[in-house]
Amino acid sequence: MTGKRKAPTTPPRRCRGHGFFFEAQCGAKEGELHRLGCEMERCPQCEGQSTSCDCPQPLEQRPRAPFMVFPHHCDRCGEEWPEFFNVPDDCWHYYVVRLGQGEKLLCVPCYQTIVNLIDGGAFASQHGPLVMQDDMRADAPLGSPGRVRWEELTARNKAIYEAQQNAQKDAPTSTPDQP
Ligand SMILES: [Zn+2]
Ligand SMILES: [Zn+2]
Ligand SMILES: [Zn+2]
Repeated sequence: MTGKRKAPTTPPRRCRGHGFFFEAQCGAKEGELHRLGCEMERCPQCEGQSTSCDCPQPLEQRPRAPFMVFPHHCDRCGEEWPEFFNVPDDCWHYYVVRLGQGEKLLCVPCYQTIVNLIDGGAFASQHGPLVMQDDMRADAPLGSPGRVRWEELTARNKAIYEAQQNAQKDAPTSTPDQP
């Protein structure tokens, strides 16, 4: 997996003579506050998503942070706003984690270069394709790589969620930590 982090903004648009300018999904421009309830707003207290973090005060009573953009770059070549993609965990481990770079963000060409240099793609060809994140959707064509990967991840997330629910149910309420 890479580019697991979701792009925080709509794609950048070019403004002639002024580089890039950005607009949040709620319409806020850089430096402005998001509309209340915008899922892109970060909580300045916990750095989570404001709409779903566990901080106790209602959003209106917390200090709020304006919308500001920090572009993503490929950690290898510096390409700005690389498109997010997904590969099976096995492949990410085999090609990238082994280099000590598992937390890095890569563009597709850099990932493919690494794969080719390490084994010409032999391992990857046995463990499932690279899928662009935009193609991973519930409404992707049945049987397409994007649909298959989406179903895999959905099933896995569901299993993790259920395991957590069960662990909470089983845990004695008086001992929050592991025994
Ligand atoms: Zn917003
Ligand atoms: Zn918070
Ligand atoms: Zn790159």
